[in-house]
Amino acid sequence: MNQILEIDQRNMTATVEAGLVLSRFHRTVEKMGLFYPPDPQSMSVCTLGGNVATRAGGPRGVKYGTTGNYVLGMEIVLPDGTVINSGGKFVKQSVGYDITHLMTGSEGTLGVITRINVRLIALPPEHRTIVVTCESPEQAAEIVAEIIARGTVPAMLEYLSQGAVGLMNNMISPPLAGDADAYLLIEVDGNRSQVDYDTAVISGLCKEMKSRDVRVIEDEREAASYWRARSNLYPLMLTIMERVISEDLTVPRSMLPEMVRMVQEVSASTGVGIGLGGHAGDGNIHPTILHFQTSPELDEKSQVAIGELLKKGLELGGTISGEHGIGIHKSEFLAWELGEVQIELMKRIKQAFDPLNIMNPGKIWPEGGECRC
Ligand SMILES: Cc1cc2nc3c(=O)[nH]c(=O)nc-3n(C[C@H](O)[C@H](O)[C@H](O)COP(=O)(O)OP(=O)(O)OC[C@H]3O[C@@H](n4cnc5c(N)ncnc54)[C@H](O)[C@@H]3O)c2cc1C
Repeated sequence: MNQILEIDQRNMTATVEAGLVLSRFHRTVEKMGLFYPPDPQSMSVCTLGGNVATRAGGPRGVKYGTTGNYVLGMEIVLPDGTVINSGGKFVKQSVGYDITHLMTGSEGTLGVITRINVRLIALPPEHRTIVVTCESPEQAAEIVAEIIARGTVPAMLEYLSQGAVGLMNNMISPPLAGDADAYLLIEVDGNRSQVDYDTAVISGLCKEMKSRDVRVIEDEREAASYWRARSNLYPLMLTIMERVISEDLTVPRSMLPEMVRMVQEVSASTGVGIGLGGHAGDGNIHPTILHFQTSPELDEKSQVAIGELLKKGLELGGTISGEHGIGIHKSEFLAWELGEVQIELMKRIKQAFDPLNIMNPGKIWPEGGECRC
């Protein structure tokens, strides 16, 4: 089930089978001047079915939104084998409950998605990459919050730590001077005048806020090398770390400076190394627990650190997952964000779809166990 069944240029939609790998879909539509923006960084291996099931996002979320913004309809096999179709190729629908978007993010707990209709948009004609070297992680977060507050919307706005740039330098040509604590990797896109305007606004603002350096990358191959390295950051980390746990906390963007401070405090108070990296533009700078070696003692301390990060992230008005979903790993924390009433409601929805509880039992909320309250 990995085929592109249709690309309908007149309607700007595509119909695909759920096992289609995302990067293949990107390449195919982009050759036709079309654009499917959702870009989880696992794109060379993940499938559109998995993207829909987890409501995945990526760097382009800041401007273009995530998978949920592009799903128009789907074919679903219900747990008893019945096949239903929800939504369609139309761009709006107001007919009863929105099953399409209930399935989007349902993590395989309600049914199997077999076919998906998605919305396409026109491929932006121009792109430009800007690299900002910041004096500190706090300054980087303040610049991100200010870019958003001024109404400029980059296509991608990623936060990179010194450690991340050190690893990415293996893939970047020429390498960045890796001596700063924090960097921002930004792409603006659109027509030429929009790209020139956004570049001028962002560069001016970074200078005004006294960042250490702003570089507009003119060479397309050099720019592509930055983004390729960014996509490979997680596997690059695994070349030197024994374990990497990427948390998915997302906060309102004005709270990013507080989030950066909070993560540093949790790291200091728990004695667990926690890096930051990722989609700053949409408030989703993943706090990432880094273990050069593993031990039961470190695992225990990490669990404490994860609990602290999530609790404090919620206090900042955030959510415990911006794009990865809850799965098993975060299920014990679900009640902190949703409360018992919403979880009960979700359990009743699951019961209606899957009365025998055969679809991914134990995902989203602990099977037979308790959420932390
Ligand atoms: C290196 C790396 C980078 C990543 N970067 C990102 C990122 O930037 N953004 C992001 O959001 N995520 C990211 N992820 C997480 C993950 O890749 C995404 O969530 C992706 O969308 C999962 O798709 P998959 O095909 O791998 O699904 P799987 O991992 O196979 O499945 C994920 C869940 O969806 C369910 N599922 C899968 N297919 C279907 C289907 N057809 N019908 C019903 N349920 C289904 C599964 O049962 C499971 O619960 C990353 C992961 C890695 C390893």
